[in-house]
Amino acid sequence: MAEFSIIDRYFKTQQLNLSETELGIGDDSAVLSPPVGQQLVICTDTLIAGRHFPLSTSAHAIGWKSVAVNLSDLAAMGSTPHSILLAISLPSADEAWLHDFAQGLFDCCAPYNVQLIGGDTTQSPHLTITVTALGWVPHGHAIGRHDAKVGDYIVVSGQLGDAAYALKHLGHPLQHRLDYPTPRCALGQSLISFASSMIDVSDGLVQDLGHILNASKVGACIHLEQLPIDAALSNLALAEQWQYALAGGDDYELCFTISPQKYTEFLLQNPTTSLSIIGEIQASQGLEFCYQGQQQDLALQGYQHFA
Ligand code: ADP
Ligand code: MG
Repeated sequence: MAEFSIIDRYFKTQQLNLSETELGIGDDSAVLSPPVGQQLVICTDTLIAGRHFPLSTSAHAIGWKSVAVNLSDLAAMGSTPHSILLAISLPSADEAWLHDFAQGLFDCCAPYNVQLIGGDTTQSPHLTITVTALGWVPHGHAIGRHDAKVGDYIVVSGQLGDAAYALKHLGHPLQHRLDYPTPRCALGQSLISFASSMIDVSDGLVQDLGHILNASKVGACIHLEQLPIDAALSNLALAEQWQYALAGGDDYELCFTISPQKYTEFLLQNPTTSLSIIGEIQASQGLEFCYQGQQQDLALQGYQHFA
């Protein structure tokens, strides 16, 4: 099956909601019109087979995840997702695989009204998928990493450590959290004008919160008993639970800082959101851990490319 048949059969299947002057798949570039008063927010993330997902991962889950990880980055800016581009390098044109992959990709796009507007399709010995996502944010309201303030709460959505646990226990029910992360798009958007800083947790909470602390030139204290950890991990030693929740990757939850007053206001307007206050920002630099009021020394293992 040739490149253009693949594009037509699997990727040019979505009914696009574009205006007369806009262009999606089929021209040399896509053309969009940003809504008045909004800024373009754009990000890209690559998934490599065997590196970012186990080789046993289903094609459907790979399609879903390649979109979800990018929508999560948009969510972390407070942005509303609009569209994606897909650059895919495939070892072969396996039609059953392509069908399931495209289905997973569009299944993740659908709830967020995201449109596939272009991409590139190439042959390579190694399956590699790069999605670029585009979204909008009201001018000047993108939520960065550099404005966390002393006294702010540190809040996370959902649970931490599920995906890292599942990666070590493939077949466990938590594998759903590894294969099908949920980008917290609505939460991210609703935090505009409330959160002082935000990041999505993809490389483990400690590493990602560390980016906020460095950019904001502040420190933090984490209260270990407040970490949202799944009941399936409750039989593990505490140190092991904390390792998953603090250093495990692939959570795709949001971590944000917010003043106590703003947090009260936010909860009044968004009462059903599943959030945990896990600590607070402090002036002394570095990250401290406390368990039931006692300071704890933790030796965590993380992951970095080229480390
Ligand atoms: P060009 O040769 O001009 O770079 P291509 O032949 O690579 O264009 O692609 C033709 C059209 O199909 C373009 O509009 C491109 O954006 C789109 N396209 C190619 N691959 C994909 C893909 N995997 N998903 C979505 N659109 C794609
Ligand atoms: Mg091309």
